[in-house]
Amino acid sequence: MAVTTNAFEMAQQQFDHVATLLKLDPQVREILRWPLREYHFRIPVRMDDGSIRVFQGFRVQHNDARGPSKGGIRFHPAETIDTVRALATWMTWKCAVADLPLGGGKGGVIVDPATLTINEKERLARGYIQQIWKNIGPRNDVPAPDVGTTPQMMGWMMDEYSRLAGCYTPGVITGKPVGGGGSLGRTEATGYGVIYAVREAMRYLNLEPSSCVAAIQGFGNVAQYAATGFIDQLKGKVACVSYWDRADRTSYTVSHPGGVDPRFLVTITDQYGSIDKSAARANGYLIEDGNAWIGKEADVLIPAALEGQINAETVKLVNERVKIIAEGANGPTTPEADEALKDSGIFLLPDFLCNAGGVTVSYFESVQNDMNFYWTRDEVLQRLDTRMTIAFEGVLEMALQEKVYMRDAAYMVAIARVVKAMELRGWI
Ligand code: NAD
Repeated sequence: MAVTTNAFEMAQQQFDHVATLLKLDPQVREILRWPLREYHFRIPVRMDDGSIRVFQGFRVQHNDARGPSKGGIRFHPAETIDTVRALATWMTWKCAVADLPLGGGKGGVIVDPATLTINEKERLARGYIQQIWKNIGPRNDVPAPDVGTTPQMMGWMMDEYSRLAGCYTPGVITGKPVGGGGSLGRTEATGYGVIYAVREAMRYLNLEPSSCVAAIQGFGNVAQYAATGFIDQLKGKVACVSYWDRADRTSYTVSHPGGVDPRFLVTITDQYGSIDKSAARANGYLIEDGNAWIGKEADVLIPAALEGQINAETVKLVNERVKIIAEGANGPTTPEADEALKDSGIFLLPDFLCNAGGVTVSYFESVQNDMNFYWTRDEVLQRLDTRMTIAFEGVLEMALQEKVYMRDAAYMVAIARVVKAMELRGWI
């Protein structure tokens, strides 16, 4: 089989595989293989030195049969329309598997945000909205943060939309800062959601959480809360996390023989995600090769960085102790690696089930915005736990009933719900 690196081809391959299993009608298949709408636009931004730079932006709405499109906006130097299409497609399945009344969307800008000043970031965030505001809104498409974008940027974007629309519209964007229309619990939602799913998988597999070790890739939002959740809630140990070095354009793994302390690592990680290596070494940490995380002797692997990280090559490095792969990132496993994992008996928590915590609390945020009534953090996390547990049980039941791989089962649950909504609306 050829090596797949294009994320959208990967998303289509995964869908086609399950569409065949489900004997899906060819016309329904044709609707779901591609996004319903996509917008490509240029964003001129006045830089601090007075010059103008023009950035390429995208917004893709894959399917909104179940409700407004929902999905983050990435600021990334290697962003492509195919990555955005893939992520928008996965959002459709993610919202459906979590049973949220939302569709799938995604946005992106080709930019390395680390090269922008704070004022340039604000102008780019506002510029993005100036180009797309007529095609988004609380009832048709609600963006959120993703790789390279922050709650503060969501605050600027919401403000720009409200200005253009002529009224305060907090529900146009989620992931806003708390106090600026955001929800308590949103920051930790994706990482904690991963841990709720891992806890349920451990219950099913009869594993004792406190004797389990996790190896995590990445140390951004998802990875940090997955790490603290694994330690605080499951009482397990985290062998390592990993980083991306922007200057060298290489990745590296940071491990500790006694388990890493994510709260300490946060204190020596800068705003661009780079670690102070000498401070790490001085505290007994080892700096290893970027792929070292995947070969760690661990019970749970949590890829929580970017797509395509577990591929035909790296899958060979997976340690035989591994029992669960919990996909915190979107699309971290290629179809070639999936084939190897199916044969290995490792229990997979597929991305759009495992990392659905973020969109679930985004949904709670828009509900709170609509009511103008805000919940406590405990209330948010309790509701998140309930939703993640129900979603896990639904997918597991499908996997056991149909005797299929967990990723295929998640697709089956999600596709059935989206097809049902399209039928009920008379689209098909
Ligand atoms: P982030 O920008 O906060 O963190 C990304 C991390 O990945 C950083 O620590 C970066 O250094 C690291 N990284 C990048 N390339 C790497 C490489 N080659 N090797 C090792 N580390 C590398 O982003 P995030 O919000 O944590 O998102 C991570 C993944 O989770 C993405 O796939 C994203 O789409 C997905 N996701 C995020 C959310 C959310 O709520 N933040 C929700 C669902 C899914």
